[in-house]
Amino acid sequence: MSRYSVSQIQVYLQCPLKYRYRYIDKVPTPEFVETTDTLLWTLVHESLQNLYNNINIFKTPTKEEFIADYYGLRSKKEKETVENWWEILNHHADLTIDDFKRRWEFYLSRYYDKHAPFKDLQVISTEKQISFQLDEWINFLGFIDRLDKVWDTFIINDYKTNKNLPTEEKDQYIEQLTLYWLWIQQKYAKYFKNLKAKLYFLHFDIEDEWEITQDKLAEIKNKYLNIIKEIEQNKVQYAMWSKKIFEANQSSLCVWCDYQSICPLFTAINSDDEVEWELSDKSIVALVDQFVEVSNKISELEKEKDWLKLIFQKYVMKKDPNDEKSDFIINGSDCDVKVTKSPKMNVVDKDRFLQKVKDLWLFEEYADISRQNVNNLFLKSWKVSLGDFMWAVEQDVMFIVKKVSKKKK
Ligand code: SF4
Repeated sequence: MSRYSVSQIQVYLQCPLKYRYRYIDKVPTPEFVETTDTLLWTLVHESLQNLYNNINIFKTPTKEEFIADYYGLRSKKEKETVENWWEILNHHADLTIDDFKRRWEFYLSRYYDKHAPFKDLQVISTEKQISFQLDEWINFLGFIDRLDKVWDTFIINDYKTNKNLPTEEKDQYIEQLTLYWLWIQQKYAKYFKNLKAKLYFLHFDIEDEWEITQDKLAEIKNKYLNIIKEIEQNKVQYAMWSKKIFEANQSSLCVWCDYQSICPLFTAINSDDEVEWELSDKSIVALVDQFVEVSNKISELEKEKDWLKLIFQKYVMKKDPNDEKSDFIINGSDCDVKVTKSPKMNVVDKDRFLQKVKDLWLFEEYADISRQNVNNLFLKSWKVSLGDFMWAVEQDVMFIVKKVSKKKK
């Protein structure tokens, strides 16, 4: 059973190499540092969670109580995170921490004004971690900010605190909330007739609501299943030592990537030295099987090569029955084959050969009667005459067959 989430898939789509570092190699990332943005996200979600949990028990707070609750959460968080607010990382050099505090209060205050008195809705759950089956083999994890019931319609709500209004990424949110329909269907199918999703862009006071249809769900589910299939195939290849299967994809998001210090695009190190990682027992067995298969193929091919060499040798002997030429070129389509006839000496009587070598005071040098040594004795050193070894050796011819490039005309 494999486990995925929308954010996991998004990492893969952004950069397959980043996916590998994070989810396969599990390369440690720098320790999490609270930033003004993450704090803003947490406080807004917690404030709205408290608000809707109170609405659900018919204890709807006044606006003053709601904002007071936010201040309570904020000072608790301040104590929890750091003594000094200035230690919280602020990516926005032109904004102070006080600017952020004002911003959060403004979002919540405007939200309250717009939605009070919160009638006609029942809250089914808030800040809920969910897990459902995408298919028989794939378990999907997600998070729902809030699930409401309004008459016979269920609505999945998601809060966004982005200061830039997303365009393309919005598709990602739509896909995410549409997929979560599967969880709702698996849990509450008989309780609703319609299902909707709603995005709240708090900074822009934009609420985007749409109906989730079976067709849209099928299309998105199919898309995610195909991406997951590709990831799973790449994982197998990677386990089989295809180290470059998860390729780096450089983009403007690289500046935020935790793995820049080891990414080959930024460090120019040979990817073989990138990260040390361990082979599982399963992958080592697969590699041994692969090695055996390759070795078997090589020995089959070697046999085939020897057989072809023999054919070329016979071809040359037929073409040149009187041994007039030493080199032959046999033409192929892209390359040729060169057959060279070369003399070779065979020792036919070892005792006589060695005795003769001793008689000629050459024992030290030629006691080793390897083919190369014997050839050297007669064909290169010119130290002896063939007549001296008449009964001990015989002369033969060997054929050297080599692939050669075609000569340019
Ligand atoms: S730095 Fe960029 S290219 Fe390299 S792993 Fe991270 S996201 Fe991918």
